[in-house]
Amino acid sequence: MATDYDAPRKNEEDISEDSLEELKARRSDKSSGVVDEDETEAAEGYELPGADLSGEELAVRVIPRQADEFTCGVCFLVHHRSQLAYEKNGQQVCTECA
Ligand SMILES: [Zn+2]
Repeated sequence: MATDYDAPRKNEEDISEDSLEELKARRSDKSSGVVDEDETEAAEGYELPGADLSGEELAVRVIPRQADEFTCGVCFLVHHRSQLAYEKNGQQVCTECA
């Protein structure tokens, strides 16, 4: 019977369509978050894959300060150790605030 053929075929199409749409949705989700990076990448002329770059950018942003830097207890800005004027009550003060 024709209906016997049609039924499973339709189901298969439905399944593949669903998974395709799911993939598309996932792709657009991902690409929408990466669009900015891709544009930046193109503008800067990098040939590296965006994933690696974004990972490095994230790592750099997450690190609050370097080992040779300190946070001034007065202006709360991060300065290089060479700008450390003195320490008072455990608070480090930069040369600008000293
Ligand atoms: Zn300061």
